[in-house]
Amino acid sequence: MNWLDLPTLIAVNVFASLVFMGIFFSLWRYHPEESSFIWPFCSGLSLFTGICMFLLRPWLHDLISILVGNIGILYGHIFILTAVRSLYRQRLYGVYWLVPLPLLLALLVFTFVIPSMSYRVIAFCLSAIVVSALLLADLRLAYRQGHRLGSMTLLVAALTDLLVQSGRIILTLAYPLDGQLFDANPGSLLALINGLSYLVLCPLGFMMLYNERLQGQLKQEATHDHLTGLLNLRAFLTEAEQLLQSPRRQAITLALIDLDWFKKINDNYGHQAGDHVLEYFAQLLSMTLHGSDACIGRVGGEEFAVLWHNDSEQAREGLERLRQHLQHQPPYWERQAIALTFSCGMVSLGPECSTFDSLYREADRQLYQAKENGRNCLSMA
Ligand code: GH3
Ligand code: MG
Ligand code: MG
Repeated sequence: MNWLDLPTLIAVNVFASLVFMGIFFSLWRYHPEESSFIWPFCSGLSLFTGICMFLLRPWLHDLISILVGNIGILYGHIFILTAVRSLYRQRLYGVYWLVPLPLLLALLVFTFVIPSMSYRVIAFCLSAIVVSALLLADLRLAYRQGHRLGSMTLLVAALTDLLVQSGRIILTLAYPLDGQLFDANPGSLLALINGLSYLVLCPLGFMMLYNERLQGQLKQEATHDHLTGLLNLRAFLTEAEQLLQSPRRQAITLALIDLDWFKKINDNYGHQAGDHVLEYFAQLLSMTLHGSDACIGRVGGEEFAVLWHNDSEQAREGLERLRQHLQHQPPYWERQAIALTFSCGMVSLGPECSTFDSLYREADRQLYQAKENGRNCLSMA
């Protein structure tokens, strides 16, 4: 048996597209919350329909098999593009859906006006090149988020497709097709092998991307506070311990910040207003300390902690700026300004400091002192 004979390759392509479609159909059914699964399913369905048209060609009207076959396969490519974009919550530009339109016109012209199989093949290859180039460009979204495995797999699929379609154009120009499309010719053979690699690499790459994105989300949820987006207590303590163990560490400064009379804010304006104030404060804290290499966490209800890898001067300046900021730009709730102040306990230690626990306890003592001193101030060891 010759494994590379064209009917066998078409049958294997049909089988691969069926598996592709089946996998994503079940994923879509069982994970209705992940809407992006519908697109790879649509891709599998389009590719399956398109390839079947070639398989059923002897029994179908030429026009149906040519139009549905080519357009179906091209939409299979476009749905993969949509799948990747929807995974990253990006809408597909309307114009992408129109990419098959020039192909449709070319197919009609080269079937009825100037019948030429070579030109039809070239028109399809050019359209597929456009879609694969768009997919390559969109993979930047995934790559920038550090989803390397999935983006590399899809990159290989898109690059292979680009190269194969370009090669097919050259082959078709060099050896014009005059007989049946699936007469044994190197261009068709290449197209089917490429189709098979596309049908394997695209679902695989998409699942890898999905998995990498999910891992990232889980990690983010496990280490960050959902209200403010800052590190949560556990993640903050882990980072702090790592910083303390670092051999290159010089000095270390820890500030514990507690919002003053926060309970009254909840009582006077409501819990939702309290949440808004917490978000506002966290944002202002991050913005004020941006660029200072500080590690910031929400370590309690209305308590925050900041760790700097250097001595206290920069830290003190940063917090003083924050205090001023808050006076001039208080949070607003229902058009009412909410007076907000904070107290802060700070401690700074040199390389000899041993445990983070002792540092934390000392900062807490200083925070208590700041509250005792009348709040809206900073106390330092
Ligand atoms: P002090 O100046 O002594 O710190 O007074 P305080 O009112 O800020 O301190 P207290 O510990 O009495 O109250 C803290 C309040 O913070 C109580 C709690 O309901 C509120 N709180 C804690 N977490 C959240 C939250 O996520 N959202 C809202 N809205 N309130 C919270
Ligand atoms: Mg408190
Ligand atoms: Mg408080």
